[in-house]
Amino acid sequence: MTATATTSQNDILFARAQQTTPGGVNSPVRAFRSVGGTPRFITRAEGPYFWDADGKRYIDYIGSWGPAIVGHAHPQVVKAVQDAAARGLSFGAPTEGEIEIAEEICRLVPSIEQVRLVSSGTEATMSALRLARGATGRDKIVKFEGCYHGHADSLLVKAGSGLLTFGNPTSAGVPEDFVKHTIVLDYNNIPQLEDAFASMGDTIACVIVEAVAGNMNLIRATPEFLHRMRELCTEYGTVLIFDEVMSGFRVGIGGAQALYGIVPDLTALGKVIGGGMPVAAFGGRADLMQKMAPIGPVYQAGTLSGNPVAVAAGMTTLKLIQQPGFYEHLTAQTQKLVDGLAGAAKDAGIAFCADSVGGMFGLYFADTVPTGYAQMMAGDKERFNRFFHGMLDEGVYFAPAMFEAGFVSAAHDDAVIGETVEAARRVFARIV
Ligand code: PMP
Repeated sequence: MTATATTSQNDILFARAQQTTPGGVNSPVRAFRSVGGTPRFITRAEGPYFWDADGKRYIDYIGSWGPAIVGHAHPQVVKAVQDAAARGLSFGAPTEGEIEIAEEICRLVPSIEQVRLVSSGTEATMSALRLARGATGRDKIVKFEGCYHGHADSLLVKAGSGLLTFGNPTSAGVPEDFVKHTIVLDYNNIPQLEDAFASMGDTIACVIVEAVAGNMNLIRATPEFLHRMRELCTEYGTVLIFDEVMSGFRVGIGGAQALYGIVPDLTALGKVIGGGMPVAAFGGRADLMQKMAPIGPVYQAGTLSGNPVAVAAGMTTLKLIQQPGFYEHLTAQTQKLVDGLAGAAKDAGIAFCADSVGGMFGLYFADTVPTGYAQMMAGDKERFNRFFHGMLDEGVYFAPAMFEAGFVSAAHDDAVIGETVEAARRVFARIV
């Protein structure tokens, strides 16, 4: 039941949007370029659902790309935002709310002794990188192919997420000079990491990694890879940065670092800590954080950093996720989803598998779960695209690219998961 171009409000809005906004969207993956077709323009959201401009309801598995962990428009979060907004939108001066959320983050993520709030994950990783370079006096950084850390110049090399959609993992407009210090290695490749440290370890300022990668679909780091990384960083005086913008409070309460039992030197957070509003953060060892302005030489700032309305949404979300059983429920629901989808695909005879960690998941049109970038890229993109559109027609919204992870919220109850799996059965039968 696809609406025609002349009657769908989504088509009309998309055509209009493209007049004033490049590609009609304010963040590339939203444009459906990987899967084709017209992006859905969203008018409202509630719990596990959102509705498009045609009034069609979707079960939403992107959750604003991670933040909507308690479900959309949770009444307590909305109330906190309304109350904060009524007291004023932004002051450019400190508030008690900022102290409270900083205390909460430090308590929940023990490696974070001090934290600085920013407004996007990009700012968080960019600032962590600057701090690592400022603190070590070294220039080189190590990142891994397929990991996305936001769009700061030196991190926009062989990155994941939207860049993969456009077959252009390194952006134009990033001077060679800016990235000559960026060393890109293979994810989960220990010998290569060891070689890099052996040849230039004492010039490497930091290693930045998504400990559970969510921007080349979902790919788990092996524990051995991360533990060896920690050892090498300690040995060479290199700052280990966990980019937990996506995995933080998503794979579990203390993030991927709690899951793997690893203490990074710095951590970048975002998404969940803003509960759908622009809050992100970077933090870690106090001796490093003490090098930040205004007390240290590493500069970083933001007009809207620690915005009171955004912090109210984030703080309320952080409280809600600490309710007893929250992550057990979230993890179980996500597991039910991936098991259900894998079962339905098997019944249809489709090469498919799935994985999940806490409330994030990956779907792969392949026989085995990928462990690295190249394996992930070898998935059946054409079949994913047919699956995506089939599900969309059925009223289920998955991430509009094979390269993205998916997200479940606490509001995805058994009925919602069951409805999704039944829809998938019908779609798998059509795409054999
Ligand atoms: N790091 C990771 C791991 C991310 O997933 C993202 C966003 N998807 C970012 C950084 C950048 O965050 P933002 O889009 O808020 O700038």
